[in-house]
Amino acid sequence: RGDSAAADRRVDSICPYCGVGCQLTYHVKDEQILFVEGRNGPSNQGRLCVKGRFGFDYPGHPARLTRPLIRRPGVPKGLDPDFDPARPLTHFREASWEEALDLAARGLVELKATQGPDALAGFGSAKCSNEEAWLFQKLVRVGFGSNHVDHCTRLCHASSVAALMECLGSGAVTASFMQALQAEVVILTGCNPAVNHPVAATYFKQAARNGTKLIILDPRGQALDAYAWRSLRFSPGGDVALFNAMLNVIIGEGLYDPAYIDAHTEGFAALKAGVVDMTPEAMSPLCGVAPEAIREVARAYAGAERAMIFWGMGISQHVHGTDNARCLISLALACGHTGRPGTGLHPLRGQNNVQGASDAGLIPMVLPDYQPVGDAQLRAAFEALWGTELAPDPGLTVVEIMDAILAGQIRGMYILGENPAMSDPDLNHARAALAALEHLVVQDLFVTETAQFADVILPAAAWSEKTGTVTNTNRQVQLGRAALAPPGEAKPDWWIIQQMARRFGLGWDYAHPREVFAEMKRGMHSLDHITWERLEREGSVTYPCPADDAPGQDVVFADAFPRAGGRARFSPTRPLPPDEPVDAAYPVVLTTGRLLEHWHTGAMTRRSRVLDEREPEAAAFLAPAELGRLGVAPGGAVRIATRRGAITLTARVDPGMPEGMVFVPFAFVEAAANLLTNPALDPDGKIPEFKYAACRLSPAS
Ligand code: SF4
Repeated sequence: RGDSAAADRRVDSICPYCGVGCQLTYHVKDEQILFVEGRNGPSNQGRLCVKGRFGFDYPGHPARLTRPLIRRPGVPKGLDPDFDPARPLTHFREASWEEALDLAARGLVELKATQGPDALAGFGSAKCSNEEAWLFQKLVRVGFGSNHVDHCTRLCHASSVAALMECLGSGAVTASFMQALQAEVVILTGCNPAVNHPVAATYFKQAARNGTKLIILDPRGQALDAYAWRSLRFSPGGDVALFNAMLNVIIGEGLYDPAYIDAHTEGFAALKAGVVDMTPEAMSPLCGVAPEAIREVARAYAGAERAMIFWGMGISQHVHGTDNARCLISLALACGHTGRPGTGLHPLRGQNNVQGASDAGLIPMVLPDYQPVGDAQLRAAFEALWGTELAPDPGLTVVEIMDAILAGQIRGMYILGENPAMSDPDLNHARAALAALEHLVVQDLFVTETAQFADVILPAAAWSEKTGTVTNTNRQVQLGRAALAPPGEAKPDWWIIQQMARRFGLGWDYAHPREVFAEMKRGMHSLDHITWERLEREGSVTYPCPADDAPGQDVVFADAFPRAGGRARFSPTRPLPPDEPVDAAYPVVLTTGRLLEHWHTGAMTRRSRVLDEREPEAAAFLAPAELGRLGVAPGGAVRIATRRGAITLTARVDPGMPEGMVFVPFAFVEAAANLLTNPALDPDGKIPEFKYAACRLSPAS
C-alpha cells in the first residue's frame, strides 16, 4: 500500500485485466500512477489481485507507441526475431495522424471498391470500452458493409454463449459469483479461479469456510483444492462423459426436480432417454473417475437446496465445448438450480470487457444484444438507427477469417487491440495469413507481434488513459475514468475509430463516449434504466435493471426464460473424442492457458515491471513423474512438439499436473504455445480446441 498523502489526485476506475471487474483507485502524482488501491466495488469489496495491484505501469513502458507508424517500402511483413519493439523505426517510419489515417482508410476503401465488402474484416477488442466495441462493430457493419467482425470471445467462451443462447435464450450468467456465498454446493469445473479470476476465488474460499461444499472437477489440481469438499480429476476431454454420468445418476435415482421441470423447461424426455445408457460404470473408462465418486458428487449437487456451477475455458475450449456447456445447463435445469439466490450457471468471463464487447455486437452472427443478423425485423431496427441497409448474412469468425485470407477472400483487415499473431491456434498458419493481407491496419499500445505485420499502426490510449464503460462477468456495467493523458500523440480508441469512419464517408461526430453510450441505449434494451449519469453516481449497475431507481437483477430467470414460451430447453449430448487424440507418435496431452501474473499474450503484463519480474520466462508445467520419465531436472530444458511445430521451454514441476499432460502458458513470444495448438473448431461456438493437442516431449539442451 502506498502513501496516499503523496498523491496529487485520486481517480476511480476499473481494473483492466480480468472479467471480475474489480473497482480500483489510481493514486496519481506528476502524471504518473504512484500506486493502486482496491475500492468497495460490488465484485471486489476492496480486494485486488497481483495484476490489479501492481500491473498498472505498462502504459509508461519505453516501447509505448506515441506517434502513428507507416511501414517502410520493401520491409517484408512478418515476425523478425531481431525486431526490437523499443526501436521499431527500421521497419516503420513515423507519420502524422492525417497521413496515417488517410493511408489506413484508403487501403480498406479501395479494397471494398474493387473486391466488394466481403474482402474486409475487423477484430475488435474486449480490452476496450463498451462504447468502443459498439463503434467498431458499427464501422464494420455500416462502413465495411459486412458482418466479418469478431473478437477474443471466439477464443474463450463462444461455445458457452452458444449453449446458453440455445438452452436459456440469453448468453450471460444467470447469477453473480457473489451468490456462491448463499449456495450449499458450488461446482467449479474447467476453471482455475485462484489463477484466472483471483478475487472471485476469494468468494469461493469464503463460501467453503462458511460450510458450502466446494466440488472441483478438472484434469489438473489447483490451489482451491485445499478448500474443496471433493476434487475429482477427470481425463482430459472426458468432461461430457462425466457430466452425462452425473445426469444418469440424478435421473435414474429420481433426484431431479419434476415441478421445476414441468413449469420451466422443455425436452426433458429426450434428455432422460439420451442419458439412460450413460451410467457411471459405462462412462468411468471415458472420464477416468470412479463410479462411486460420480454418484457422490451427483447426489450432493442434486440434493442441495441451492447450488451453482461455475466454469472456465477448460470447458469451452474444446471441439465439444458447446456440448460441455449444454451438459452443465442440463444439470442445473434438471435440479431446478436457477432463478433463486444461491443457484445459477456462471461461465467465468475472461477479459475485463468480454461480456460488454459481446453485448455490444462484436460478434459476426449477431447484432448488439445478440439479435441475429439474419432476422429481417431485428435488422430493420438497426437499419433505422444507423440510417443504412445492413448485410443479412452472418460474418466469418476469428479462425475462419484467417482461413479466408489464405483462400483469397479477405484481403484487408483492421485489428484493434487483438494479437492474433500470438493468440490464434496454429500460429504458423495465422502468421502466414496476416502476412498475406494486402492491407492491414493495427491499433494498439505497442508494436505487438500482430503489429509487425501491419501497413499502418495507430497508437492508442491505454485503459488508465480513457473514460468509458465496461461490463464484467456478473453483468455489472461499470464506469472507468481516465487517470492520465495519453503519451505523445496517442489517442483514445473511440476517437481513432471515428476518424476511420469519416474516411469511409460516415458523418460521425461523437464528442465524448457518453454520446456513444446514449446511442447504444437506443439499440440495446439490456441497458434500459442504466444511464451515464447513474454510472457516474453509482459506479456500477447490473443489467437487467427494472427501474431508474432500482438495483439491477443479480439473479435472473426466476419466473421465465427469454425464449419463446418462456421455457428453457434441455439439449442432450453424446461424448465425442478430441479432434487429435494422443497416439504412439504424440502420446502426451498439451493444454494451454494463463498464469496469475501474465495476461493473455503478455502485451501488457510482460511490460509491467513487477509482474514480469515474478514470471520472466516461458515454462512447461509437468508432473514430477513425467519429468522423471523424461530425465529432465526442474529448471532444465524440455522440447514440446506437435504436428504443427515445436518449442523449447524451462521445465517446472507442478504436482497438480496429471501424468501424460503438459501445461504451457501462451504469453511468451519466445516459446509461443500457439505454434503447437490445434485449430480444429467446435461446430457451434467455432472455438478452437486449445485445451487438447497431442504432443511429444523430449529433453533439450
Ligand atoms: Fe483485476 Fe481480475 Fe485481479 Fe480483480 S481479480 S484485480 S479484475 S485481474
